[in-house]
Amino acid sequence: MSEDCIFCSIVAGDIPNRTVYEDDEVLAFLDVNPLAEGHTLVIPKEHGEQVADLPEVAPTVFQRAAELTPAVRDAVDADGTTVAVNDGPAAGQEVPHLHVHIVPREEGDGAGMLHALDWARPELDDDTFDDVQQAIRDAQ
Ligand SMILES: [Zn+2]
Repeated sequence: MSEDCIFCSIVAGDIPNRTVYEDDEVLAFLDVNPLAEGHTLVIPKEHGEQVADLPEVAPTVFQRAAELTPAVRDAVDADGTTVAVNDGPAAGQEVPHLHVHIVPREEGDGAGMLHALDWARPELDDDTFDDVQQAIRDAQ
């Protein structure tokens, strides 16, 4: 655990989150600044900044992300997903704790491919967040 890491604080329960999956090694929760409804982050409970920093647990994180992706997609009735890691500050990583993004996508959402991600973020109220959280839980 890193004391000044927001994701470690989430793992520790010091910061509330909308968990959609949890086991001994992995936590998945809704991104508080979603790129799309259902935007989910999958993180290792162990602190590490980048993929290469966590050779033991990273495969488990990716496996859980793979398993969760259909549930996220189905929960918001999306056409597909973008599953991605911004690995390091140069790649746009904003929180220095490994996290896999699962971003629901729609045909014609205009965001293009991963290389061109830049579109208007939805304004979601608490009820919508709650509904999406429950829908992902139910879709597993
Ligand atoms: Zn951390």
